[in-house]
Amino acid sequence: MVMPAVKANAYGHGAVLIGRALQDMGVQDFCVASVGEAIELREAGITGRILVLGYTFPEQFQELWKYSLTQTVIDFCYARQLQITGVFSHLCVSDGISESEKGFTYKHYVRPGIALYGALSSPYDKTAAAVNLKPVLSLKARIECVKQLHTGEAVGYGQTYTAAREMKIAAVSIGYADGIPRELSNKGFALIKGHKAPVVGRICMDQLMVDLSEIPGTAPGDEAVFIGKCGNEQITASEFAHTAGTISNEILSRLGAGWIE
Ligand SMILES: *Cc1c(COP(=O)(O)O)cnc(C)c1O
Repeated sequence: MVMPAVKANAYGHGAVLIGRALQDMGVQDFCVASVGEAIELREAGITGRILVLGYTFPEQFQELWKYSLTQTVIDFCYARQLQITGVFSHLCVSDGISESEKGFTYKHYVRPGIALYGALSSPYDKTAAAVNLKPVLSLKARIECVKQLHTGEAVGYGQTYTAAREMKIAAVSIGYADGIPRELSNKGFALIKGHKAPVVGRICMDQLMVDLSEIPGTAPGDEAVFIGKCGNEQITASEFAHTAGTISNEILSRLGAGWIE
């Protein structure tokens, strides 16, 4: 049984978009984190079984019946207030490749999460099966303006980056409110015209600055790729997450919903 995890807005990919695509492929079972997420899928025409993985407070029990949802129960007392249709366990080492981890994971469960979206959690993850994952999502923004930065001038809040030479800097229309971690200030990079453009200065709420000094022929409107391919270069979600000190699951599920096309 394949029961894809489409929680956290399908890991930032858009739950309705992904849910409908999976349903069209014949998937009949889904898991989400909350009743709210389940209702969103029902209202979008998802007819199969929807398992709510997270806790639902008794005030919302009637929604479970109204929308024909399956609730995870956490103990006997909670179970007595609902009805039992099956059991499952959290596959907390499903990505493990040691014999003991594989032994712990019951093999007849298939509850794909991050792999469904074509990503590894971390770039150094080893999978038990050789899988060729194809990323579903790219994260892109556009250059708003390009400015000259003179030697000794600083860029951004806190003046954390000072130009050691004449530089060409671009403001890009994406920031931490859109899901680019502020942790990537002076650390991350974007791909512009197939080249790496380092992030300089602190990432703002809706914008960030990149160094274009080494990239010829750039102009406002050009695309900046944060996750995805650009020319011969690529940034995977797991590499992006690794630079930010986390895993791709967290990065993707935190992307602002406004980015989905
Ligand atoms: C989220 C979740 C999954 C999928 O996990 P990933 O690590 O994202 O692949 C599977 N089972 C349960 C119970 C989950 O909550």
